[in-house]
Amino acid sequence: MKSDCNGFLYPILNEDKCINCDQCYVVCPETSTILATKPKLIFSAKNKNRMVIIESSSGGAFNGILRAIDDNSYVYGATFNEDLEVKHKSEFGINKFTCFSKSKYIQSNLDDCFKEILALLNQNKNVVFSGLPCQIAGLRSFLKKKYSNLFCIELICNGVASPGLFSSYIKDIEKYYVDKVTNYTFRYKKNKKAMWRDFYIKIDFLERKSLIKKDDSFMKGYLAKLFMRESCVDCRYAQEKRVGDIVIGDFWGVEKDNTANNSQGYSIIICISDKSITFIKNLREYMKLNRVSFEEIKEKNPTLYKPNEKNVLRDSFFTNYSKAKSYSEVIHKYIHKDSFPLKLKRAILFYYRKCYNNFCFKREISNDK
Ligand SMILES: Cc1cc2nc3c(=O)[nH]c(=O)nc-3n(C[C@H](O)[C@H](O)[C@H](O)COP(=O)(O)OP(=O)(O)OC[C@H]3O[C@@H](n4cnc5c(N)ncnc54)[C@H](O)[C@@H]3O)c2cc1C
Ligand code: SF4
Ligand code: SF4
Repeated sequence: MKSDCNGFLYPILNEDKCINCDQCYVVCPETSTILATKPKLIFSAKNKNRMVIIESSSGGAFNGILRAIDDNSYVYGATFNEDLEVKHKSEFGINKFTCFSKSKYIQSNLDDCFKEILALLNQNKNVVFSGLPCQIAGLRSFLKKKYSNLFCIELICNGVASPGLFSSYIKDIEKYYVDKVTNYTFRYKKNKKAMWRDFYIKIDFLERKSLIKKDDSFMKGYLAKLFMRESCVDCRYAQEKRVGDIVIGDFWGVEKDNTANNSQGYSIIICISDKSITFIKNLREYMKLNRVSFEEIKEKNPTLYKPNEKNVLRDSFFTNYSKAKSYSEVIHKYIHKDSFPLKLKRAILFYYRKCYNNFCFKREISNDK
């Protein structure tokens, strides 16, 4: 895999060694046949452990599902390495997989994971692979046949940002603060003010105090689809039928359920395979589950039924970035600091939401009594 001029990873074909067998077209998630299935059961889901929800992006569905499966699996997920690159790796055992928690909205490098998984499956080991729809489709076509010891957790996906661009953004932060960034957290929730839907980020430094920020330019650019990979614009996997055994995502729209204390996060769990339905009983031990319909969850999560639209400024952003090769030289032309009226509007909305959530929380507690 090599980075293109925009910092996205692409496979490189070695023409000297190519024998024109076309296997790359057969297994590539962009060109392979999609084997997808319609949802069987859908739940709104909230982990019973509040700390797990705080450490997760939405309602802690990933954690709950792993606990409900079993402790005897190799779990594959995405994590930051020490150079703050997003990579897939595996962990064995229930207490290890917390390193995968929290979304990293950047293309993850799969390295040799697929080869490792094939070897483990052939040794009859249980494997749980968590990833984006195109990664699961890629794994399934690479494996060529169904394995009963493989379980795939698919994330609803809005597209990935460029790893090269993210590295440039981190370098610019390091230059500005004259300190090394040691850790980066998307969807940070430990701050009292931070609500799950506010997309706070946290930056840890070697020497300085950590920085906790709302309205960070990278997060804003990602949400505006400015940094999106070309293949995400017309994603083949953004449809009701899904390729994983189970699908997890954010339950935007949960506020319609007045009894939900949604300030820390709510997930969606969609059961696709028969296998996923068999452990719902176990899952209830770790998560509060309520049946919901596809109509309810699709309203605020459009990639569940249609591909993303391209941000009209995306191409211009990357043209300028590939010339400048520095995030901070370009970003200010595209992401502007908020004006005073906008800040005021946001503050009013923030306090309204806070009061509303407190009210729901108190009601939930008094209902629980
Ligand atoms: C790029 C991306 C786009 C997303 N877009 C949407 C969306 O449009 N709508 C929606 O409802 N949800 C989306 N999600 C999923 C959402 O952000 C939460 O991950 C989901 O709600 C599960 O949260 P959780 O609380 O169960 O678990 P968490 O503990 O937050 O789950 C973390 C899981 O995400 C996996 N993961 C993290 N980063 C990556 C990555 N870069 N590549 C592959 N896997 C990764 C980890 O391996 C782990 O399995 C997206 C996630 C990612 C990574
Ligand atoms: S899979 Fe076959 S066609 Fe594709 S690059 Fe390799 S040898 Fe060439
Ligand atoms: S939007 Fe589609 S192509 Fe892009 S990362 Fe997500 S699943 Fe893959």
